[in-house]
Amino acid sequence: MGGEIPKQYQNINGKPLLRHTVESVLHCAGVAAVCVVIHPQDEALYRSAVSGLPRLLEPVEGAATRQGSVYNGLHFLKKWGGEQKILIHDAARPFAGADLFGRVIAALDTHEAVTPRLPVCDTLRKNGKTIDRTGISAIQTPQGFHFDTIMNAHEELAKQGDFTDDAGMVLALGGKVQEVEGARTNFKITSPGDKDMAERMMEGQRETRTGIGFDVHRFSDAPARHVRLCGVDIPYNRKLEGHSDADVGLHAATDAILGAIGQGDIGIHFPPSDPKWKGADSMLFLKEAARMVRERGGRIIHIDITLICEAPKISPHRPAMVTAIASALHCAPGRISIKATTTEKLGFTGREEGIAAQAVATITLPVQDGWA
Ligand code: MG
Repeated sequence: MGGEIPKQYQNINGKPLLRHTVESVLHCAGVAAVCVVIHPQDEALYRSAVSGLPRLLEPVEGAATRQGSVYNGLHFLKKWGGEQKILIHDAARPFAGADLFGRVIAALDTHEAVTPRLPVCDTLRKNGKTIDRTGISAIQTPQGFHFDTIMNAHEELAKQGDFTDDAGMVLALGGKVQEVEGARTNFKITSPGDKDMAERMMEGQRETRTGIGFDVHRFSDAPARHVRLCGVDIPYNRKLEGHSDADVGLHAATDAILGAIGQGDIGIHFPPSDPKWKGADSMLFLKEAARMVRERGGRIIHIDITLICEAPKISPHRPAMVTAIASALHCAPGRISIKATTTEKLGFTGREEGIAAQAVATITLPVQDGWA
């Protein structure tokens, strides 16, 4: 799937893939405990991915093959006390769901080995020849077994370490495997495209947040040729005073984004007392706020900025402002709105002592616990 860390620890909708899957298993009635087989080098990633989850046994060290890893897990469970029925599930299938788990568990009452299957609907072709798909199934997990049945299969076939599923081992020894209906949604996440699909399926588990921002900067007495507004240098004989580039529009927008994720204000993250930000391009602040949104699995849906001033005239520069912000945030221009108004010569903006800006940011985030 790409990425710097193994796919099961990569975030999907703000949470590691493994955590989604383990949570889905824990939600199933009748599951006494969950044991995860991991690569020993991934222990820190594992502990952070599952922190706080109940009924998790200590992780078990995996082997070079999938089959070997399951064998290690079975050994551990035997020592742990062994349950009569066990389920073997793939960490990359977060959508198995309680119904599918329930079908597998129920079938174990009368069968020693159970696997979900799906009929294959796509046309199959090999080396240019279409294959008759009659009787061809796609086999999924969770697969369920009576403990002794699967332990015995693994012991018998330990030297033949290339089985891609456990029910296949029972079949290879002449055992019977009961098939139950799988689920189309129970797909295995293996490619970046699968990850996109998973995030879309989790769309219902997202919430919308809004944040508001407001800022004012006074005009400087020094002569100037430009004033910087929403990332654009507008020809004007006055500029705004400030520690950074004093881009009042971007400051309001940055505060709006920070507000939507409850992360304080621009002064906390980029204190004016820090010489690092002297003369800084305020687009840096906006980009950092956007990065904080992404870090939480969030996305910016829309930013609406209103500039409040008598002059300079904003409307001729609006398209350039939209483009500047949209390209900095890598979003569609339609997600950025710039408006301008005057205060009818009233107040400090009316007297042209400074410019004010307000902004509203709308974002989506993975659902947060703890309703008011
Ligand atoms: Mg400011």
